[in-house]
Amino acid sequence: MKKGALVILSGFSGVGKGTVAKRLVEKYGYSLSVSATTRKPREGEVDGRDYFFKSEEDFRNLIDYNGFIEYARYVENFYGTPRKFVEEELDAGHNVILEIEVQGAFAIREQYEDALLVFITAPSAQEIKNRLIGRGTESEEVINKRLSRAVEESEDMCQYDYIIVNDDLEVCVDQVHAVVTAQACERRHN
Ligand code: 5GP
Repeated sequence: MKKGALVILSGFSGVGKGTVAKRLVEKYGYSLSVSATTRKPREGEVDGRDYFFKSEEDFRNLIDYNGFIEYARYVENFYGTPRKFVEEELDAGHNVILEIEVQGAFAIREQYEDALLVFITAPSAQEIKNRLIGRGTESEEVINKRLSRAVEESEDMCQYDYIIVNDDLEVCVDQVHAVVTAQACERRHN
């Protein structure tokens, strides 16, 4: 059976990439990988749906048991992609989305050469700041750290296969699906 596509979505904090990922699941039937993290849950987040929330000790054990295909540290916390789900879904022919930051994305590209790296951005830098502050889930200190991280990430953005602006959610979702479909045609052709 033909394997599914592995799609990496990265983007600045607050840019709405989580919503883009959820729409890809609803509209086009993608499988969304749920990451593990040592970050504390935000209000409304559910263990096993938004993240697998782990202690640092449990997270380190998973690293030792080769449980992640990649993991990274992002603003004081660890985040990792569980191996089993991703490999089973790809083998079953499903398209899989990982919503991860840039270090993780580049680690994935080393292991899965067909992985498609898509960077989601906002229409302007001010818009990124507004969305992050407007979300109201982080302290001022964390917002500032996330904004400095966004500056570093903008340097890595150019190494992604596609950069897509999330101005209108449905347009953005359709554009991501379009590039995934185009890549699948290319793979068939080669
Ligand atoms: P947040 O704390 O806002 O949920 O996520 C912080 C950052 O970690 C986001 O850029 C998100 O995409 C990234 N992230 C979430 N899960 C993973 C993962 O499994 N691996 C890596 N490398 N980054 C992740």
